[in-house]
Amino acid sequence: MTQTRTSRLERGRSALGPALELIHTGRAPTRAVLTSRLGVTRATAGAVAAELETLGLITVDSRPGAAAGSQGRPSHRLSLDPEGPVVLAAQVHADGFRVALVGLGGRIVATEPRRMTVPADPAHVLGAVADAGAELLRESGRRCLGAGLAVPSAVAEPEGTALNPLHVAWPAGAPVREIFGGCVAEAGVFRAESGGTAVVAGNDVNLAALAEHRHGAGRDAQDLLCVATGHRGVGGALVLGGRLHSGSSGLALEVGHLTVHPEGRPCHCGGRGCLDVEADPLAFLEAAGREPGPEGSLLRQSQELLAEEASDPAVGEAVRLLTARLGAGLAGLVNILNPDRIILGGLYGDLLRFDAERLRAVVADHSLWGRSGGVPILPCTLDHNSLVGAAELAWQPVLDDPLSVLGG
Ligand SMILES: [Zn+2]
Repeated sequence: MTQTRTSRLERGRSALGPALELIHTGRAPTRAVLTSRLGVTRATAGAVAAELETLGLITVDSRPGAAAGSQGRPSHRLSLDPEGPVVLAAQVHADGFRVALVGLGGRIVATEPRRMTVPADPAHVLGAVADAGAELLRESGRRCLGAGLAVPSAVAEPEGTALNPLHVAWPAGAPVREIFGGCVAEAGVFRAESGGTAVVAGNDVNLAALAEHRHGAGRDAQDLLCVATGHRGVGGALVLGGRLHSGSSGLALEVGHLTVHPEGRPCHCGGRGCLDVEADPLAFLEAAGREPGPEGSLLRQSQELLAEEASDPAVGEAVRLLTARLGAGLAGLVNILNPDRIILGGLYGDLLRFDAERLRAVVADHSLWGRSGGVPILPCTLDHNSLVGAAELAWQPVLDDPLSVLGG
């Protein structure tokens, strides 16, 4: 008897993480769906949901109601607790940074952007990031369980160093995770009773892809390719079976250094005509004969330029060039990786929203798999997906084992 009860409790405990992940990603809206997805008894699913509610992570509707679209019997609705804990997420880019408090479900509770030049010492901007985050936490009164940082560089694992921060002035190999951890501790982000205090860092496009896979345009894709350009340069990421493919040391998918114009401009990598220098927002502005202005980020300026395509022939030509260069790069990636979905972020997402067919046609023309079937190419759908992805990393210990982080 005792043994049976113990094993049931252990089974329940081991199901807490998978259950939370199902609710977190919107795949278990009711207790009945949770029961079937976990493959456990109704009693175990009920105990698991009750435990997650006790931990302050979810709410369980006390009266069963009909689940939307469900043919089965009414079930208790499961929701993420809107007043639950948060993590601090931050993204540093060439024009400054953005901080946010992010709850489960990828929900941004509060966020604040700041424009600033990013000097060579990472502690400078990361100190400002931590202070801004601590201020958001004070205003919200929320409990903070971790901190995640997105940077415009490959991040070596397990060291947490920024290997190629080309578009911020940081030295290559800067230990950004460690510095961020120090700044967060100094700013008082974690209270003594916080429990989990994971501090993590990752590449901004990797994190965007992870967030889109869990909550956005990449949901349910098996081989998801993400290509994005935000402020400077071009990044890529691959999510295979739900996991980021980051290579043997975190450097995989450096798609910005694909050659898309062999006679093109020299690149900081030593090559020539890379996607990074031929198809980022700065290259797009320059192709249209525009100088970057002082107002608004490069991304914002390039997005505004897209809207002028119909009225200005020079912009039209710049859009055609951008489409050709990006299309050539995507076709090469499709030939090598054979993804089942491609999602595009930043300026590329907007390019697709303006005219999806012309980019799809370039990719199909230049790729073997593209011609044979066509891979869906979609814009990213989440606001601030790199921030949400940084939060995903920070939430991971809770998703893996909620009780050990929150149970005390
Ligand atoms: Zn290059």
